[in-house]
Amino acid sequence: MEGQEKLLEIHHLHKDYGNGAVLKDVSLDIHKGEVLVLIGPSGCGKSTFLRCMNGLEQIQSGEIRLDKEVITDPKTKWSEVRQKIGMVFQSYELFPHMTVINNILLGPLKVQKKEKKEAEKEAEQLLERVGLLDKKDAYPRQLSGGQKQRVAIVRALIMKPEILLFDEVTAALDPEMVREVLDVMLELAKEGSTMVIVTHEMQFARAVADRIVFLDGGEIVEMSAPEQFFTQPETERAKRFLDTLSFE
Ligand code: ADP
Ligand code: MG
Repeated sequence: MEGQEKLLEIHHLHKDYGNGAVLKDVSLDIHKGEVLVLIGPSGCGKSTFLRCMNGLEQIQSGEIRLDKEVITDPKTKWSEVRQKIGMVFQSYELFPHMTVINNILLGPLKVQKKEKKEAEKEAEQLLERVGLLDKKDAYPRQLSGGQKQRVAIVRALIMKPEILLFDEVTAALDPEMVREVLDVMLELAKEGSTMVIVTHEMQFARAVADRIVFLDGGEIVEMSAPEQFFTQPETERAKRFLDTLSFE
């Protein structure tokens, strides 16, 4: 990744919810076009880390820059930053009383003040890409979990973010629906999207990642290419983590 442009820079990040540090001096650069997969045991701070990256959590110290601009500043307009840093959650977060297309159009129309016809066309193109154009007038309750998650991804993509954060987006899905969501993410990776992905799908992590970041106890313990990490982890903590997975 040397020589490539740094898109998101995280320097000495500390996060504490009030009963001990959750992230301890975490530093990480994410380059343009890079796919970074964040793995680690439950409770190690993965979600917190992603949430800090787009301002859903206040941090105690450290700094985050997006395109060189400091975004961890009291004056940061997070509504603007979040258009550049999209996030997809495990629980979809779709509005139940709105159709698929209206869920997707909310951001472009209300936040970005785009023209309706143009936004609709983009929404339809994106729905087509994830194989859901025929569901555009359906309500979330009429969709499967995998379909809802693909809609949530489209809702993030339509804002044309510079970077996308995914927090265990397949963890709540029935096994047969995991693949269709992972395939969309693999496709995005191939197209050069910059992404930070938290996942427990290790085969997928190995296939999609440029770099694996192993987080444990709120610290980055290891950071390496996927082949290296999965075949020759450097630390005892990473070895132990990988061992627990093979018993699942
Ligand atoms: P992970 O996503 O790796 O499972 P989390 O980031 O969710 O880990 O949690 C890291 C630690 O922070 C855990 O000990 C968790 O209990 C704690 N934590 C997470 N969210 C909150 C919160 N809103 N308030 C207090 N503690 C929290
Ligand atoms: Mg989590």
